[in-house]
Amino acid sequence: MNTTDTIAGRGPDALRAAIAGQVFVPGEAGFDQARTAWNLAVDQRPAVVVEAGSAADVVQAVRFARARGMRIAPQGTGHGAGPLGPLDGAMLLRTTRMRKVRIDPAARTARAEAGAVWQDVTVAAGQHGLAALAGKSPNVGVTGYTLGGGLGWLARRYGLAANSVTAAELVTPGGDLVRADAGHEPDLFWAVRGGGGVGVVTALEMGLYPVAELYAGDLFFPIQRAADVLHAWREWTLTVPDEVTSIGHLVWLPPLPEIPDPLRGRAFVIVEAAYLGDAGPGAELIDPLRRLGPELATFATIPPSALGQLNMDPPQPLPFGGDGALLDGFPAAAIDTLAGLAGPDAGTLLASVEVVHLGGALARPAPGGGAQPNLDANYLLVAVGATPTPDLAAAVRAQARAVKDALGPWRVGNDYFNSAENPAPASAVLPPASYRRLQEINAAYDPDQAIISAHPAWPARP
Ligand SMILES: Cc1cc2nc3c(=O)[nH]c(=O)nc-3n(C[C@H](O)[C@H](O)[C@H](O)COP(=O)(O)OP(=O)(O)OC[C@H]3O[C@@H](n4cnc5c(N)ncnc54)[C@H](O)[C@@H]3O)c2cc1C
Repeated sequence: MNTTDTIAGRGPDALRAAIAGQVFVPGEAGFDQARTAWNLAVDQRPAVVVEAGSAADVVQAVRFARARGMRIAPQGTGHGAGPLGPLDGAMLLRTTRMRKVRIDPAARTARAEAGAVWQDVTVAAGQHGLAALAGKSPNVGVTGYTLGGGLGWLARRYGLAANSVTAAELVTPGGDLVRADAGHEPDLFWAVRGGGGVGVVTALEMGLYPVAELYAGDLFFPIQRAADVLHAWREWTLTVPDEVTSIGHLVWLPPLPEIPDPLRGRAFVIVEAAYLGDAGPGAELIDPLRRLGPELATFATIPPSALGQLNMDPPQPLPFGGDGALLDGFPAAAIDTLAGLAGPDAGTLLASVEVVHLGGALARPAPGGGAQPNLDANYLLVAVGATPTPDLAAAVRAQARAVKDALGPWRVGNDYFNSAENPAPASAVLPPASYRRLQEINAAYDPDQAIISAHPAWPARP
C-alpha cells in the first residue's frame, strides 16, 4: 500500500477530526483548488493537502505526517512554488487561512500569522503611521518572502525584512510548537531570517518603522529608449542616498482591460523609485531623470501601503517562470548587453526584466543578523515571463537564463534566495558560511529532511 492509499483510507479522517482546518486527498471535491499555487505553471500533486486553521492544526498535521514518514511542504500563497520539486507522497501544508495580524504601535512591531500577505500588514500598520519592510507586491506572502530575505521599497534604508524579524513561532520537524527569538532557540531564529527556515512557521513578529508617507512613483519611457534611460538611471543610482530605493524596469504590459489606455499592451522602460522623505527634496532627487522627458510620470506623496502599486506586479495568479542574479556592478557594457537581449529589437518573450539598486543598509551586515545578514552585491537582476504552455515555459526559462548568463561577468558568487525561480540548493542562494551553518542546524533539527524547503540545505553528515 503506498502513502496515498494509506491517507485515502482511515488516515485523513483522523486528521480531519483533530483539526479546525481542512484536509483534502486526491479525488475529493476541493482537492484541485487546495493544491493550486499562485504560480499556475507549477502542477502540485501532493498525497494530501492540509489547510491549517491555527498553530495547533499545524502541530497535528506535522505529527500526522511524521508518523507516516511523509515529507511536508509548507506553503502560504504559492508565489514561490517554482523552485519546489515534485510533491509526490508529500503533505502540502497550507497556511492560507491563518491571516490574523496584530500591530503593537507602542513597541512598533507587527505579529502576522503565517498565511498573511503583505497588504494585511501594510494597511494595519499604516493606521498607526508605521511601515513594514513589505514586498513590492501586496499579495506576496509575509512568511515565504521574509524567510528568503525580503527585498522591498525601504530596503536601502532599513535592509532585508528578515533582519527586522524579532521572533518566529514555528513547529519543529519533530512536531513541537516553539518560539524562536533573541533569547530562545538561537539556531531556529537565525535560520528563519533569510535561510528559508527550519520547520513550519505559524507566525512572525517584526519591527515596524515610523513612516507615514513617502515620495514615490514611476517614470514611463517608450521601450525604444531602454538603453539610454538605463544608462542614466544607473549613473543616478551612484549619487542617491540610502533613503532612495529604485528599479530600472523593462516591462511588456499585456492588452488587458484593467490596464489604463495609454499603457495597455505597450512596452516601456520605467524608472521606479521610493524616497523616504518629503516631496520637495524628493522631486529634486528625481529631477535629473525627469529631465529625460518621460511619457508619463506618477511621482506623488503616498502612504507606504500604496507602494504595492509601483512595480505593477500582477494581482491575480498566473503561470510564470524566470530567473535572477545578484550583480556586483551594472556598468555600461552590462546595460548594452541587457538592452541587446531584452530591449526594443530583441523580440523577447520575457514580460518583465528588472534591475534593483541594492547597497545602502542592504550591504552592511545587520548586527546579530540571520542567515542573510546582508546582500553582498550592488544590483539584482530579475527576469520573468508568462508561461501558459510547456513550450512557452521552456522558451521563457531559456531566455531568462540567457540574460543571466550574458550578465555572468558581473555576477557575484550566489543568487538571491527569493528570485531563484528554478530548483536550486541553498548553497546557490546563500553565502557559503550561512549554508554550512544551515546544514549543521538541519542535522540537529531535521536530519531526515522532513520539511521540503524552497532551497534545501542537506543536513551535514558527521
Ligand atoms: C509577483 C511577485 C512579486 C515578488 N516581489 C518580491 C519582492 O518585492 N521582494 C522579494 O524579496 N521577493 C519578491 N518575490 C519573491 C517572493 O518573495 C518569493 O516567491 C517568496 O517565496 C513568496 O513567499 P510566499 O509565502 O508568497 O510564497 P509560498 O510559495 O507560499 O512560499 C515560498 C516558500 O517559503 C517557505 N514557506 C512559506 N510558508 C512557510 C511556513 N509557514 N513555514 C515554513 N516555510 C514556509 C516554503 O519553503 C515555501 O516553498 C516576488 C514574487 C512574485 C511572484
